[in-house]
Amino acid sequence: MTKPNNLHTLTDTFGRKHNYLRISLTERCNLRCTYCMPAEGIQLSPKEHIMTYEEIYTIANQFVDLGVTKIRLTGGEPLVRKDAALIIEKLSSLPVELTITTNGVIVDKFIDQFKKSGIKSLNVSLDSLDASKNTEITRRSYFEKVYQNILLLIKEGFTVKVNCVLIKGFNDDEIIDFVNLTKSLPVHVRFIEFMPFDGNRWNMDKLVSLQEILTEVNTNFNKNEIIKLKDAPNDTTKSYQIKGYQGTFAIISSVTNPFCDGCNRIRLTANGQIKNCLFSSTESDLLTPLRQGKSINPIIERAVQAKFKIRSGMDTLDKFKNTDEHNNRSMITIGG
Ligand code: SAM
Ligand code: SF4
Repeated sequence: MTKPNNLHTLTDTFGRKHNYLRISLTERCNLRCTYCMPAEGIQLSPKEHIMTYEEIYTIANQFVDLGVTKIRLTGGEPLVRKDAALIIEKLSSLPVELTITTNGVIVDKFIDQFKKSGIKSLNVSLDSLDASKNTEITRRSYFEKVYQNILLLIKEGFTVKVNCVLIKGFNDDEIIDFVNLTKSLPVHVRFIEFMPFDGNRWNMDKLVSLQEILTEVNTNFNKNEIIKLKDAPNDTTKSYQIKGYQGTFAIISSVTNPFCDGCNRIRLTANGQIKNCLFSSTESDLLTPLRQGKSINPIIERAVQAKFKIRSGMDTLDKFKNTDEHNNRSMITIGG
C-alpha cells in the first residue's frame, strides 16, 4: 500500500529519516537485570499515566501516517503486559514490519499470536550460557526456560537474534562460546557494549569494546574463517559469520563507535513520552495532548528537529564517560 509521504515531519536537521518506532509497552519486568535497573527497583509510573492499548494504537497509527514502516515492541518486558496479545494483534493491522525485543521467559505462550500477527523476527536477551551466571545477572532463575524458548522459536521458523550485553570480568570469557552457538544454530548473536543508564553502576572499566571483541574472535579463529557481512545503511551492528556456521554474530558499539549517522529510530516510552535518542535527557509528552484531543504531530516534529547529531550531544567518549552529566531514565523505563 502506498502511504502519503510525510516523512519530512520525521526528518531531522541532519537529513535522517525516522521510519522506525520503538514502543515500550510497560515499565514492569519479570527479570531484574543488573545492567538495566537498580537492585532496589524503580519508581513505576502511576497506572493512569501508562498508555492504554487504544492510545498505543492511535499514536502508532499516527507515526505510520507520517512514514514509519517498522515498529518494535519493547519494555520492561513487553510480554508481561496483560493485554500484550491484544496490542500485538491491533498493531499487526498496520502496514509495518512488527517485531519484539523480549527476555524470552514467556514467549512460548505467544507463538500462535506471533504467527497470526506476521511477526517473523524476535530479539531475545541472553547474557550468559551458564545458568548460575545468568541467575546472577538477571537476579532470577530462568536460564533453562529462556534457552528452550530460543530453540522453540527457531523450530517454529522465527528469525532469532540473541542480545548479549558484555560486562568485563563477568561474561567476556563467553564471547567464543556465543560465537560457537552459531555453528549449529541459525541464531544471530549480537554483542552489545554495556551502556550507562541511571542506577546501573556503569563505568568504563566494565566495558568490553568492539575492538576487544574482535581481538578475541581473531585470536580464536583463522583470518580466512571470519567473514565480514554487509551491513544495511541503518544497521546498528557490524556483522560477521564464521565460515560454514549457520548463524552470524554482530557487535553493537554504541559507546566506542556510535552509529548515529544512520539512526532512523525514535522511541515512545510506556508513559507516552517521545525520546529522540536513547541517551537524551529530555522527553516530549505525547500522551497529555493526545488525551486533550490535541494534534500530536507538531510535538513529534519538534522532538525530531531537536535531535542531536551524536548521542544526544555526548559526542566524545570523554563526555560519555562522565556519567554524572547524564540525566536519563533507567533502561527498563526507556525500552532499549
Ligand atoms: N525485557 C526485554 C529484553 O530484555 O530483551 C526488552 C527490554 S530491554 C531494556 C532491551 C534491551 O536492552 C535488551 O537486549 C537489554 O539487554 C538491553 N540493555 C538493557 N540495559 C542495557 C545497558 N545498560 N547496556 C546495553 N544494553 C542494555
Ligand atoms: Fe527486564 Fe529486559 Fe531490563 Fe532485563 S534487560 S531487567 S529483562 S527490561
